[in-house]
Amino acid sequence: MSVLQNKTALVTGSSSGIGLGVARYLATTGCRIMMHGIEPESEVTAAMHELELAGALDVQYRSVDISQPGKAQALADDTRQALGDIDILINNAGIQHVAPVTGFDDAAWDRVIEINLSAPFRLIRQVLPSMRERGWGRIINIASVHGQVASPNKAAYVAAKHGLIGLTKTVALETATDPITCNAICPGWVRTPLVEAQLEVRAEHSGLTVEEEAVELVREKQPSLGFVSPDDIGGAVGFLCSDSANQMTGAALTIDGGWTAQ
Ligand code: NAD
Repeated sequence: MSVLQNKTALVTGSSSGIGLGVARYLATTGCRIMMHGIEPESEVTAAMHELELAGALDVQYRSVDISQPGKAQALADDTRQALGDIDILINNAGIQHVAPVTGFDDAAWDRVIEINLSAPFRLIRQVLPSMRERGWGRIINIASVHGQVASPNKAAYVAAKHGLIGLTKTVALETATDPITCNAICPGWVRTPLVEAQLEVRAEHSGLTVEEEAVELVREKQPSLGFVSPDDIGGAVGFLCSDSANQMTGAALTIDGGWTAQ
């Protein structure tokens, strides 16, 4: 039996992309899974069914905009009521906004920081007491290579992801003697809707096709010349949740095809 059987996992932003890859992995271990995103549940029912078929004990979904005051906390409380205390928190929901610093407006800055950094903080604060009481917990923050290095025109995202790695280290130290770990995963390019939107903008400007831009995008940064897949990130989450990773905490696990090795 998997050590994760019967555990309750909240995976934010699991209606698509990386979060869905993570939820897909956790389903195979027999977890109860709270899926989450901003899409209506009707758009997620096929994915929910897929997770049930893969072995999840229970799958529910909540559509909650965690940029709104009080909503991240409410999502944690709602998950606890619906599926039991949260054993595994995956802070994955995130957005991008691309603009030079001089043209970066306040609303976009605040929104990126709120969703990518402040909501993870609020969710961690909400779930830690019950993890401590129950004597087990895994917190995994999906950061980015942009938590370690920068790219131009992504000021809020880069700041939020660097902050998320700092938050990860702080929580790891505060829980160091508890049977709880807190780690970050730092993916390079993963071809999800978040990246697809950037490819479309690049294609509009360059006159190349979206597929040609996809080749260019990885060539610029990722020496492997391939995209990381959402399932690759799911596998890393599986490792971090396993007993083999009991002593791994405060780490930033990079999965980037060599991007940050350069
Ligand atoms: P995606 O666009 O496929 O999914 C984003 C998810 O976040 C969706 O489920 C969406 O519903 C949710 N979301 C968006 N706004 C929200 C809001 N206001 N409130 C609640 N949920 C909201 O993106 P993805 O590429 O799978 O990204 C997932 C995470 O991985 C993000 O934190 C992103 O920064 C990070 N990441 C992505 C890449 C990449 O190349 N795709 C690389 C490194 C890190």
